[in-house]
Amino acid sequence: MEHFDVVIIGAGPSGACAGALLRKAGKKVLCVEKQHFPRFSIGESLLPHCMQFLAEAGLEPALQQQAAAHGFQFKNGAAFLKNDFRTAFDFTDKFSPGPGTTFQVKRAAFDKILADAAAEQGLQIRYGVTVEQVDITGAAQALLQVSDDNGRQYQLSAGFVLDGSGFGRVLPKLLDLEQPSDFPVRQASFCHIRDNISDPRFDRNKILITVHSSLPDVWFWLIPFSDGSASLGVVGKQQRFDASRSAADNLWQHVQQTPELAQLLAQAEPVNEAQSLTGYAANVRSLHGNRFALLGNAGEFLDPVFSSGVTIALRSAAMAVPLVLRQLNGEQPNWDTEYSKPLRKGIDTFRAFVTAWYDGRFQDVIFSRQRQAKVTAMISSILAGYAWDQANPYVAEPERRLNVLRELCLDAE
Ligand SMILES: Cc1cc2nc3c(=O)[nH]c(=O)nc-3n(C[C@H](O)[C@H](O)[C@H](O)COP(=O)(O)OP(=O)(O)OC[C@H]3O[C@@H](n4cnc5c(N)ncnc54)[C@H](O)[C@@H]3O)c2cc1C
Repeated sequence: MEHFDVVIIGAGPSGACAGALLRKAGKKVLCVEKQHFPRFSIGESLLPHCMQFLAEAGLEPALQQQAAAHGFQFKNGAAFLKNDFRTAFDFTDKFSPGPGTTFQVKRAAFDKILADAAAEQGLQIRYGVTVEQVDITGAAQALLQVSDDNGRQYQLSAGFVLDGSGFGRVLPKLLDLEQPSDFPVRQASFCHIRDNISDPRFDRNKILITVHSSLPDVWFWLIPFSDGSASLGVVGKQQRFDASRSAADNLWQHVQQTPELAQLLAQAEPVNEAQSLTGYAANVRSLHGNRFALLGNAGEFLDPVFSSGVTIALRSAAMAVPLVLRQLNGEQPNWDTEYSKPLRKGIDTFRAFVTAWYDGRFQDVIFSRQRQAKVTAMISSILAGYAWDQANPYVAEPERRLNVLRELCLDAE
């Protein structure tokens, strides 16, 4: 049986980042990835906070070098559209320190760039290898049963296991850690398009979030790439979608019901088959246990609306690795107070904003004509991913501050 200091499940952003950081510390690390890269993944709009973790892990140079060749789009903010009201947040004008720009990426290429860069730093990645079973009851090591594409089954042992399996949710399923999300079951239908947009008001440096013209809890993402293509998706409660119709029909029907967006996309042509994802919000009872921790989507996933997924995935990797190193060194880090609670603090900031988006409170703020520069910078910070910066009052007390701000916006209107 082969033994590793750490086995990572999944070579997505969280797995690649954790692997690169562990290699920097000289650890013997194996990453097992069920699929073969490049493979499609959703989640194409990064937040600037991501760049901090990619730099820490030594993965940013590869991204910067290859961004243009893969059609990745420079991104400096988020634009919002509701009926004929347009507004935008510039991430370079933000409250928290840190990078203010990032990219909109095609995930197949992005994930491969990160995984290859981590492999160059010595991370062993085995593609086409699926984790089937784990035994984390051992005092000295964890055991994993894996199978490869040829049906060969074998065991691995590890001093620690990091689960970066995303929606695969390997350890939550195998260890019975799953807990339902507080959010209702929502669906997303999406595809890539050649957007053919000529409207000068459309800023390719920003993701565009459009609210459906008559259903305020239904919204669209339009994520432009630098090669003239874009990712388009619609999100709403599952009952808003007609199960008897295709993903493409559901997507374009909602677009047609939203005149400003329909007009913007009048010349758009799909470049791949639309697909749908349903019920992606997920949670767990615990983000850690004996010799394991959950990263990124294998832990909690909220909602796509503020593009927080990859940021949380990378941040979780950057927070977990120093604790793994200490544990491998014979210490006993307190995973609850040093990992779970601080990680969840930022997730809870996003949760407050996501909840307020769907119940309309945050939309009242975003689509208000009243803007105060300092408050706008604080909101920009959160939209740029800095949801852990306690110096930002909207992180320290998101719920109360949002409610007060909304009242101020409504009064001023
Ligand atoms: C509709 C929608 C839109 C989104 N939009 C955005 C966005 O704009 N911006 C953003 O930041 N996030 C977005 N997200 C979230 C984003 O997709 C995820 O948060 C992000 O990919 C999580 O990264 P990860 O590394 O945790 O997992 P993943 O990227 O999912 O990677 C997990 C890897 O584990 C592998 N794996 C799974 N099971 C096994 C197994 N048994 N053995 C071995 N390997 C396994 C998988 O093959 C996969 O490669 C969106 C999500 C949804 C649902």
